[in-house]
Amino acid sequence: MSALQFIVEMMLLLASVGFIIGLRMLGSPTSARMGNAIGALGMLVAVIMSFVLARPSSEYAGLLVAILLGSLVGIYAARKVEMTAMPQLVAAFNGVGGAASVLVAVCEMMRLAQSPSLEVSPIFICTAWFSAVVGAVTFTGSMCAYGKLEGWISSRAVLFCGQRIVSGLIFLSLLAGLLLMFQEPLNTNLFWTITIVSAIFGVLLVLPIGGADMPVVISLLNSYSGLAAMAAGFVVDSKLLIIAGALVGASGIILTRLMCTAMNRSLMNVVFGAFGSSVIAQQNADEKPLREFTSMDAAMLLHDASRVIFVPGYGLAVSQAQHNIRDLANALKESGVDIRYAVHPVAGRMPGHMNVLLAEADIPYEELKDLEEVNGEFENTDVAVIIGANDVVNPSARSDKSSPLYGMPILNADKARSVIVLKRGRGTGFAGVENPLFSLERSGVVFGDAKKSLSAILNDLKHL
Ligand code: NDP
Repeated sequence: MSALQFIVEMMLLLASVGFIIGLRMLGSPTSARMGNAIGALGMLVAVIMSFVLARPSSEYAGLLVAILLGSLVGIYAARKVEMTAMPQLVAAFNGVGGAASVLVAVCEMMRLAQSPSLEVSPIFICTAWFSAVVGAVTFTGSMCAYGKLEGWISSRAVLFCGQRIVSGLIFLSLLAGLLLMFQEPLNTNLFWTITIVSAIFGVLLVLPIGGADMPVVISLLNSYSGLAAMAAGFVVDSKLLIIAGALVGASGIILTRLMCTAMNRSLMNVVFGAFGSSVIAQQNADEKPLREFTSMDAAMLLHDASRVIFVPGYGLAVSQAQHNIRDLANALKESGVDIRYAVHPVAGRMPGHMNVLLAEADIPYEELKDLEEVNGEFENTDVAVIIGANDVVNPSARSDKSSPLYGMPILNADKARSVIVLKRGRGTGFAGVENPLFSLERSGVVFGDAKKSLSAILNDLKHL
């Protein structure tokens, strides 16, 4: 090994260590920024080393163009994307990660195919097949998830007759493709066919998953993108890609497990659960009337309360009302009210969505209570204030077997003595079902954008 190669290997090892430390630090809100910076530094080192390794140097031009294009898209996306569209961005990033792994495997396959007499190892065949299959599934599956989150495709489970059989046959044909690859390892037409069939498989895997199960799908696709990258690392013999891919794959699996626990679902139930269920979940035809509260009604209830729990949800992110909750909470705290924030693990549209928003408004982390911690406290709470949350407080998840939310642990906001709901109209939550909590006798709805409603309530509170 030459001195240069040794230095490059050491730098790549350092970059991998940077990824691991960065990932570890992302686990706490206090160290997350630094963790992000360390991970990014590791990536910079990896990119520079790729230049050093590029042979021949004519590859520089291609590398530079790719970096320029990728950076432009990355900077544009990071600056322009709305906080509420972040999950779609994550889905898109997972997807392009999967597509990149497919392209790496395809390019390597095409390069090797130029010397047909070349012997390729079984490991190469298996990992090339794996990166094509998982990468293509990740790409189209993520695009499908993007469409569901963006509202282009129904967010419910989309099913057609015989879906399970079609998916099973496709899976078997992909296994047959692997066997054929052992006979003709460098047949690029076969490789392209496997890739295209996998792309169709990705759509069929994600379409039947819908409603409240989407967080699990997104974290699962995140894990897939890492596994595909890891396999691509074996294909091009890049230790860094293997390590980085394994890290993404493993952390995605851990997140998927956490999401499954949060939804009280097994992974099998999420992935195959929708098969055989009715195509469209039952619509609640009997819309019950909602009691309307003015901001003054809400302010008076809060004024007389001694314990209040705020329940933030996706609507908080839409209206960017995190600073307004903090202001209202501070005003109540000054009058001696005990304040907590109940954070459901799948509230919003991405894991940790509410934690990020509330941290942005400098809300003390110790006031944020997760589901298990806070659920027993609602019974002794005077007012639960629901800010743009819906599915995560839907009591039919506990009792209505026909509800797509059935079985998902929810925040027991309906057990509070009074409930104030802030929402714009009669919109349903992500799962598309009515919420009986909103029409309870002890509930009242302040209609309007959450940010405006919160500042109106604060204003009225000051006059009491
Ligand atoms: P929901 O999506 O269930 O409900 C959001 C509520 O906010 C709606 O009732 C809507 O009613 C209201 N709303 C929207 N905009 C505003 C606004 N500007 N001001 C006030 N209210 C507003 O949110 P939850 O957080 O309760 O639940 C999250 C759902 O998303 C779950 O089903 C979860 O499974 C799913 N999901 C979660 C992901 C994650 O990783 N966390 C990823 C993908 C999906 P109205 O229109 O009447 O205002």
